[in-house]
Amino acid sequence: MRADLAAYELRTGLALRAVAHELAALPPSASDVEVLAVLGATANAAPAITAIEPRSLPTLGQSIEAWGLAAGLREVAFVTVAPERVDATIAEFPGAHVERRARHVEIGPQDRWQDDRRRGAPRVELFFARDAATACHAAALQAADPTRHAAELGALFGYPACCVAAFVAQRTRNDNSLNRYLTAARTIAPGPWPWELNELHLRLVAFYPCAYDCPAAQAVARATVAAIGNAHPAIPPQLATALTATVIYVDHDHQVWLRCRAEPDRYDAIAAIGGGRALPALVAAAARADRLVTADHGIELHAGAHAVVEVVPLPLVARFG
Ligand SMILES: [Zn+2]
Repeated sequence: MRADLAAYELRTGLALRAVAHELAALPPSASDVEVLAVLGATANAAPAITAIEPRSLPTLGQSIEAWGLAAGLREVAFVTVAPERVDATIAEFPGAHVERRARHVEIGPQDRWQDDRRRGAPRVELFFARDAATACHAAALQAADPTRHAAELGALFGYPACCVAAFVAQRTRNDNSLNRYLTAARTIAPGPWPWELNELHLRLVAFYPCAYDCPAAQAVARATVAAIGNAHPAIPPQLATALTATVIYVDHDHQVWLRCRAEPDRYDAIAAIGGGRALPALVAAAARADRLVTADHGIELHAGAHAVVEVVPLPLVARFG
């Protein structure tokens, strides 16, 4: 891993954990100003000028792993589900062989998975393949050491080798907010990036791309969308509309999705994604502006010529189009 990326991972991981820790420590009576301050955000009092709309994402009918296996995009589909979801999940893979492994999963703030597989809620890992030997082989590799066997597992799961290599090179892989920051940090082009790789909420790929414009990752996502479209022609255009967005991503629990139609970074609607403590205040602040301005040190949200919101340090700004 590049030295600058390793330093960025350490720094960003620490900053994300500090935000989660400080939000959890706030008293219930904390004001919006205090709550926003934890995110590094300040907002002026101003009237709302942009509509806050409910987020509407199409439902895909079944998991992207099931779509991918059926379309021949992967030899093995791997999903982790709650015990009560096992039967319904198996029904998504008619004719496939399944291997099961029990584990526990504890998910903390910001979608951070604890490494200890004995802590948390019971979950079942399911490995589906057309033949029993392949499903069993993938389950054995995952149980032995998923990092050491990442290249082979990635090939079985249909993940591009470049994306697997970049993910394995990270110091850590269990913090899904940090994983997004790292994918963005590896992306050279400023964007907009292909909407098919907007995996910040609804994912069309089951892996982290090496970059948000990785052609191999985009090919996997496009093939998945095509498979969905063959069965449900109305869904791909809905996906394109929903996933074309500029996203202010503080962490997994604090996402502000901006709809920019007329010109880049000028928005006419916003949507809140996540369940974070500071999200309602952040979205309400964003509604007082209609233009995103990014600088090296952070972002500003402007209404006309005036900055009404500032967020420092720079959150992840992801533009998908
Ligand atoms: Zn890649």
